[in-house]
Amino acid sequence: MSFDFSNFGCNVFNDSVMRDKLPKATYKELRKSIDNGVPLKAEIADVVAEAMKDWALKKGATHFTHWFQPMTNITAGKHDSFISPIDDGKVIMEFSGKELIKGEPDASSFPNGGLRATFEARGYTVWDCTSPAFIKDGTLYIPTAFCSYTGEALDTKTPLLRSMEAVSTQALRILRTFGNKTATRVTATVGAEQEYFLIDRDLYEKRLDLKICGRTLIGAKPPKGQEMDDHYFGRIRIRVAEYMRQLDEELWKLGITSKTKHNEVAPAQHELAPIFDSVNIACDHNQLTMELMRVVAKKNNLACLLHEKPFAGVNGSGKHNNWSLSTDDGQNLLEPGKNPYQNIQFLTFLSAIITAVDKHADLLRMSAAVVGNDHRLGANEAPPAIISIFLGEQLTSILESIAHGDKPNQNPTSVLQMGVETLPKLQKDDSDRNRTSPFAFTGNKFEFRMVGSSASIARANVVLNTIVADSLMEFAERLEKTKDFDKEVISIIRETLEKHGRVIFNGNNYTDEWVKEAEKRGLPNLKDTVESAAAYLRPENIEVLGKHNVLSEIECRARYDIMLENYIKVINIEANTLIEMLKRQIIPASIKYVGEIANSYNDLIKAGIENQEIKALTAELSELISKISIMANELEELETKQPTQHDIQAEYCRDVLFAKMNEIRTYVDKIETITNKQNWPMPSYTDLLHRV
Ligand code: ADP
Ligand code: MG
Repeated sequence: MSFDFSNFGCNVFNDSVMRDKLPKATYKELRKSIDNGVPLKAEIADVVAEAMKDWALKKGATHFTHWFQPMTNITAGKHDSFISPIDDGKVIMEFSGKELIKGEPDASSFPNGGLRATFEARGYTVWDCTSPAFIKDGTLYIPTAFCSYTGEALDTKTPLLRSMEAVSTQALRILRTFGNKTATRVTATVGAEQEYFLIDRDLYEKRLDLKICGRTLIGAKPPKGQEMDDHYFGRIRIRVAEYMRQLDEELWKLGITSKTKHNEVAPAQHELAPIFDSVNIACDHNQLTMELMRVVAKKNNLACLLHEKPFAGVNGSGKHNNWSLSTDDGQNLLEPGKNPYQNIQFLTFLSAIITAVDKHADLLRMSAAVVGNDHRLGANEAPPAIISIFLGEQLTSILESIAHGDKPNQNPTSVLQMGVETLPKLQKDDSDRNRTSPFAFTGNKFEFRMVGSSASIARANVVLNTIVADSLMEFAERLEKTKDFDKEVISIIRETLEKHGRVIFNGNNYTDEWVKEAEKRGLPNLKDTVESAAAYLRPENIEVLGKHNVLSEIECRARYDIMLENYIKVINIEANTLIEMLKRQIIPASIKYVGEIANSYNDLIKAGIENQEIKALTAELSELISKISIMANELEELETKQPTQHDIQAEYCRDVLFAKMNEIRTYVDKIETITNKQNWPMPSYTDLLHRV
């Protein structure tokens, strides 16, 4: 069965459908809104709504929903049917422009960080016409932004759209100074590679921790993990291949350009990468991809785990956020150019990125912080928690030679050939593929590798777009004023390297030496979510987010609070889950087993045999059971003693509750290894990792 590609995007109200279904004038007006952000007139919205409804009904839809992305990393929406009663007890199908443009969900229970008390709980969803509507499970999905009655953003999309605007505006200013008169818009583009685990559903159902927390809270190290390096890019097993096939088809029908699939490093770990798109659409598509990954898994009696660290001891999952800027006149601004002038423009954008990342490293680090990612970042399998930039030898040496005012390198064997003095001719350097860097230049884009597999990519791109917009703005102000353009550009590059060169690191990010070196360079090392959340409160960050109208100070503070609140909730849920597993599964099962052994020992004694090993095993099990029981009670007790102020409570959750859970785990994992398999009340790591 092969996919009929004429069905690609068949469930999407995309450009060709719009062109087909809308009157020409309406189509043109709508296009203006999509491309240039011109507000849509009410009459036009009515026509679009009518066409959308007719199209959706023909496709079998009965409902519509304003689909939005609250600060939960997943999506939401309530579903309304199109029906409207008429006189004779019958109904007709209606959908107005008003209903398309604006919704008013009573959405009082979404995280808002104090922005909205329940008594004024009205929230608004506003149609985002730049991301196409689509049909899924009989409902017409309308992508929307979600904000409060007073206009504050309550979602991840609103700041993302604002940040796209900011980076477009400032990038265009730079392009103008380079003489570009044709570009009218610069779009931040993203390709998000998604990692995930796939395990057998029946086994998954037997693990309370996986079901409730998305990760195993306990589990002894299996005899075989990933040490043989035999999974990465390996043969895709039949059941997994079938899953991937179905998933691709579902994604293609929604116009999602799923392109690459392969096995990842850990057993049972895989990856899917789409072709890049504008960051807003890439973000919506990534949310849908995550959702469909879970749904298709369930249909195949599998469970898809999107947690950053489902299993200790094998690699966790991330999301590589490949980011670039492209113009509507066809340039990728991070593609080294063919002639020296294009190159110098490229180096200007590169300098803006270097400046931005160094100045706001804490913000960028924060943008990848979710509780699950704390297990991963800095754990020698994923980038460290320290932000640095990989440029590769060639690019770094070009920047350095410009900074030092050196004569161009004339060595013919060198990849560099400088045409005009000080204006280098570059060649794409794909030779070096540093896999350890959190933020790596990969030829024509940057790959931000810190983002967690379960997280929305919105936050990371909000930060990237905004901080880069800010340094572009600073450069634009200089370049617009200068009398000697070439000289000013060179000064900008030189100053970037002088002031912010410390953030460039081409070496191995996994080493202890780098941690020490980074400290010497004064680079922040924010180890976890609790530490990184504070980036929202640093005045320089509040200033930059405010200046570009991405997040106001109130919104920053709200987001800080939501992050901590989420952290606290997750740790508490994990602690509760662990307590339940200990008291109702592990301890009873272990007591039963130790009883069986004790009986065997006594039976042997009766038969005149005294076995010291059995006695020792009984004692060891019994001691472990006591330890675990005592610690389960302690954890319960500690939970009741939590401070109430969020920042202190979050630290308590990390330093006391989470630390205690880890301590308990060592004893549980020990007892698992000496308990017989029949008595162990849940599937082992081997069952979970090697059984699909
Ligand atoms: P890797 O070897 O890291 O897996 P790939 O070549 O497979 O790299 O590309 C990774 C992702 O980068 C893909 O999703 C691809 O579409 C995306 N990508 C390529 N060019 C751009 C660009 N200009 N902007 C954003 N993403 C891009
Ligand atoms: Mg990659």
